Amino acid sequence: MKFRNWEIIADKKYNDEIYSNLKGGIADGCQCNDCRNFVKNRQDIFPQEIKTLLAELGIDYTKEADNIHLQKLKNGLHSYLALFHFRGEITKLEDETGLLPLNDNLIINFGLPDGQILFPNVERLVQIEFYIEMPWTIEKELESD
Ligand SMILES: [Zn+2]
Repeated sequence: MKFRNWEIIADKKYNDEIYSNLKGGIADGCQCNDCRNFVKNRQDIFPQEIKTLLAELGIDYTKEADNIHLQKLKNGLHSYLALFHFRGEITKLEDETGLLPLNDNLIINFGLPDGQILFPNVERLVQIEFYIEMPWTIEKELESD
């Protein structure tokens, strides 16, 4: 399949099966404020284009393998990284770095798994990494730096 200038092969059936057996994303299993804020914003983070891409790869976007709060930014938003994996292959990269801004608050990148995985092994796993900026929408007094 094609996404922008990327060409991607995904074992959708296998990926669907892995994701359907997961109870939730990493953030769902954590009660820290950063994860609670991530979960609260998760529906709004990804534009439809990305939700569609992830679904076509067999990825459930509500079941991230990792999510890392980076910092509160000068613009008041909070930066996070969120990682997903799928079994497949990138057959053509967008450009040398692979980084692609999708909107003002979202950058996508593809690479090899370097964090925790929710798959039984790393065989042919591709990592999708999102850099995300989102508002703090849970209790104001709990806001992180
Ligand atoms: Zn957490």
